[in-house]
Amino acid sequence: MISLHGHPSGRHFLQIPGPTNVPDRVLRAMHHATIDHRGPQFGDLGQAVLQGMQWVFQTRSPVVIYPSSGTGAWEAALVNTLSPGDAVLMAETGHFAALWHRLASRLGLDVEIIEGDWRHGADPSRIQERLAADTGHRIKAVCVVHNETSTGALTDIAQVRQAIDRSGHPALLMVDAISSLGALDYRHDEWGVDVGVAGSQKGLMLPPGLSFNALSERALAAAQRARLPRSYWDWGAMLPINATGYFPYTPATTLLYGLHEALDMLRAEGLEQVFARHQRLAGATRAAVQAWGLEIVCQDAAARSDALTAVLMPAGHSADALRKVILERYDMSLGQGLGRLSGKVFRIGHLGDFNDLSLCGTLAGVEMGLAAAGVPHRRGGLQAAVDYLGRLAAGAAQAA
Ligand SMILES: *Cc1c(COP(=O)(O)O)cnc(C)c1O
Repeated sequence: MISLHGHPSGRHFLQIPGPTNVPDRVLRAMHHATIDHRGPQFGDLGQAVLQGMQWVFQTRSPVVIYPSSGTGAWEAALVNTLSPGDAVLMAETGHFAALWHRLASRLGLDVEIIEGDWRHGADPSRIQERLAADTGHRIKAVCVVHNETSTGALTDIAQVRQAIDRSGHPALLMVDAISSLGALDYRHDEWGVDVGVAGSQKGLMLPPGLSFNALSERALAAAQRARLPRSYWDWGAMLPINATGYFPYTPATTLLYGLHEALDMLRAEGLEQVFARHQRLAGATRAAVQAWGLEIVCQDAAARSDALTAVLMPAGHSADALRKVILERYDMSLGQGLGRLSGKVFRIGHLGDFNDLSLCGTLAGVEMGLAAAGVPHRRGGLQAAVDYLGRLAAGAAQAA
């Protein structure tokens, strides 16, 4: 129990879908004197993290690192490639798609959003239809959220790419991978993404404060023509100096030490293994939710996110009251419902520095909280997750 006067015993469970738990190794790596970001030591660090980010994005194109939250990298993607009044097509997958839409509108872009019910990923066939109808090629970019963190629904980016190609449309493809990069498979080059947007505080296991743009040849060509005002976010100022590992203005040196360590950890585990771990823990979480008899927000079973699970409350019960009980009794933070899902949904983050036992602790906290808050449910969610993990482990042992 949290006490106002003492320190709660044991670790806080930060099970929101970002910021995520920062591994001790990363914390220790940031316990480092700040160095001269123009001095001889810095260039090696800068080059290592810039190259490391290309590896995580699965791209050969440059990656730009900003000292900002993910929202800054959203803005950077748009201002570097577009001009005032350009038409942009977005897909309303949930709260984050709606926020990116609002940001784009405020920049003076002419944004059309394909409406959605916040329970599915973006529909590639509707994107294709809309692009096919745009015979004059007014639309300059298609922007989609890969992992919609407000709903736990994934969009199939390879299919969005195919939809754009099939319509023969030259629009750029921009993807918000803020809560997928480093947790779920994201293939920047293979999927033909022109600008990939990411942040430090989700799959990359870092504190908030860094954001990223992964580019493409076409994005760089668009940047030559783009006329939206840009200065702080300008790729043109970043790229030449990044080539030597340096930055045009003061980078977040301490966070870059952390990023270097987090990249080492991801490399040691291997990206395939990282994705498989998220898949396994997500499957176990969904088994628990189903055993409780609660409803998962994402209605498309194939699109359910491996990074988080958003759960609908039974009618008449407040998700915020449940989250309050869980925080006060068990010192665990769960994600709140965002936007139109406020109060109706709680979100279990199962991404980043997370394993079988941290999942079991998390699900135990939810199950005890459901009982304590008087939320109607069946018992046995934790057991269902344990059984799920046990079956997978037995299957893996047999296969070996
Ligand atoms: C967290 C998140 C954002 C917002 O990032 P900030 O770092 O809060 O600016 C945007 N999109 C998605 C999908 C996210 O998960």
